Amino acid sequence: MEAYARVIPDQNLDRALDYEIPEPLRKSVHIGTRVRIPIRLRLVLGTVVALLEETSVKGLKPIAEVIDETPTISPNLLKLARWMADYYCCPVEAAIRCILPQVIRNAEMGHQRRKWMRISPEFNASQLAEIEKKAPRQAEVLRVLAENPDGLYLSDLLKKTGATGPTVKALEKRGLLMEGDAIKMRDPFVGQNFIQSTPPVLNDEQKVALERVREAMRNPTEAKPLLLHGITGSGKTEIYLHAIKDALHAGKTALVLVPEISLTPQTVDRFKSRFADVQTEIAVLHSHLSDGERHDEWHRIRSGEAKIVIGARSAVFAPMENLGLIVVDEEHESSYKQEEMPRYHARDVAVVRARNEKCAILLGSATPCLESYRNTTIGKYELLHLTERIDSRKLPVIRILDMRQMNRTKGDVILSFPLCTAIEARLTRREQTILFLNRRGYSSSMVCNKCGYVAECPNCSVALTYHRKDVRLVCHICGHIVCAPNACPSCHDASIRYQGVGTQRVEDSVRRVFPHARVERMDADTMNRKHAYTEVLGRFKKGEIDILIGTQMIAKGLDFPNVTLVGIINADISLHLPDFRAGERTFQLLTQVAGRAGRGDVVGEVFVQTFTPVSPSIQFARHHDYEGFFEQEMEFRKQFQYPPVTHMTLITIRSTSRERAEFSADTLARRLQEAIPKETAILGGPAPAPLEKAKTFYRYHLTLRGTGAARLGRTVRDVL
Ligand code: ADP
Ligand code: ZN
Repeated sequence: MEAYARVIPDQNLDRALDYEIPEPLRKSVHIGTRVRIPIRLRLVLGTVVALLEETSVKGLKPIAEVIDETPTISPNLLKLARWMADYYCCPVEAAIRCILPQVIRNAEMGHQRRKWMRISPEFNASQLAEIEKKAPRQAEVLRVLAENPDGLYLSDLLKKTGATGPTVKALEKRGLLMEGDAIKMRDPFVGQNFIQSTPPVLNDEQKVALERVREAMRNPTEAKPLLLHGITGSGKTEIYLHAIKDALHAGKTALVLVPEISLTPQTVDRFKSRFADVQTEIAVLHSHLSDGERHDEWHRIRSGEAKIVIGARSAVFAPMENLGLIVVDEEHESSYKQEEMPRYHARDVAVVRARNEKCAILLGSATPCLESYRNTTIGKYELLHLTERIDSRKLPVIRILDMRQMNRTKGDVILSFPLCTAIEARLTRREQTILFLNRRGYSSSMVCNKCGYVAECPNCSVALTYHRKDVRLVCHICGHIVCAPNACPSCHDASIRYQGVGTQRVEDSVRRVFPHARVERMDADTMNRKHAYTEVLGRFKKGEIDILIGTQMIAKGLDFPNVTLVGIINADISLHLPDFRAGERTFQLLTQVAGRAGRGDVVGEVFVQTFTPVSPSIQFARHHDYEGFFEQEMEFRKQFQYPPVTHMTLITIRSTSRERAEFSADTLARRLQEAIPKETAILGGPAPAPLEKAKTFYRYHLTLRGTGAARLGRTVRDVL
């Protein structure tokens, strides 16, 4: 039995340390076991990554404690962490931190006593009014506990009520609540009953596609990753559901990744209903889980009780074993990319995980990202097609409205005359309309007519957005808020103008033009209450809302048969972003939003308002021509050597001092240039980032483009 263990501590050291395993602990230390180890004078947590029979180092310190007998991180996930560290140039412990959620690590540290509180049988609702008068906090705690008769973790209870430990103690003393005994698993869906849905008979295209997925599940080592390209409403989700059922039948587990934004009750209900007979085997991971819920779901997954896991980006690390299938829905979604260290892309991590764990992987999208689609053309992935909408429902008709030519005397400044007429017709026919604009707030900037002053954030290089309801200027990057002035702060003239349209302003226009319509707005500003999202969608579904206005929040995955009109207020916003993927993003967004129209029996109509009607992204979206878009866009990427033709590394240099940021960027660029032979990679920059200053930091960008990802990564790591 091995006497030594190599351990990666949680804290940033970026290297492994060796320890002696004391005799009594030898049976319980494995690869992936979490342990407590001495470093200098402290005890810290770490993960065992290797076992050694001997070592040349003398006098190794012993491991102090084993946290849990069963390895917490499976060898496969450890392997994934190593790959991430290598590919994304991050310390391996950063990758391990992704794999092991904070709440699990906290529990190991003993930070959180998982105390469980419930209402006592002695509590009587009639007491509430009395307590309310003297101790409103205590009353709140009681009310919340009364609503949760199964009890709550203390930590969740405190978070929910804003109360403190002593408040709860006081109530406990009075005998109104008590400490729960058994730890009961939290199910975020308690109280909901799901009626088993019967799977529809698949159409021929679906059958062909499903057969390929089955084949891949039978022969995962030989199969390539599968890319399911199917227009919205073509029945992709149905294929996932069938394939998952097969995986379960074969005694395997299945992992389904969806973008956070489409992790809606609608989506989850669909899975829960299909697998109503084995409901307890489904775990859902999303960002709104409380710590307690997250903790329990994690353990349910790790113990093997949960066999289907549905979750957003970080669910790619769900501690499942025996995987039969990984599904990545809407694989083109940019929310799969994590924007902080480690900056991984969940789709790519999923592909690697599937390879490591020898399971099938299915990526699905109506608008695959260029990387994935190109992989099917060079034989790395296999392409599956769904070309028809279910029941041959027609794709919506897309009309481009050239805003340069619009008659300004008719209609409204924001809603063109044809769009107004179309909305009017829907109101008459009692059909529903969705209006989309990817910018919240009222106006995107405040400008002085006299001196040209623009209200900017002091911490970031962006204009402040005007929010009319609370008469404030808000920074959408850092959250900085000031009162909107009545006069120009610079020249004191009163001729202030607001430019650029946000969703609040659209709502204003709609209410003015259609005073009798029932209108609702959905964006980050209106959706901050916990159930607001579900509630508004519920009313929309019931037909209690005629016009729904919203940001990307309403662009994805929603399926409402009575929506026959979608208006895109300004298609140009995403087109002018300083990103080589701006065209691709615009095409995807237009296609997705358009997909919301005409899911029922009536052919849908989409109106796209734009100042650049000839843009290829808009034109190809209009003709529902993905292949055409792909070819044209690939030409552009080839010409400028952008991904997927190359691999690209983006390095951001940040400092609160502009000079230091610039100096470091220049130095780094010079060193990189020296280290890389000219013909193997192209160095871009250094240049100020498009968002030059964010949250008081000045930012510089450097890019490297080359063909070998591994070599690029190595060079960057060495030079850094
Ligand atoms: P996608 O995921 O491609 O948008 P869905 O799987 O959500 O498509 O299918 C769209 C709608 O059609 C859903 O309401 C679904 O239940 C239904 N549907 C899918 N496949 C079939 C089928 N073979 N027969 C009947 N209805 C189907
Ligand atoms: Zn700011």
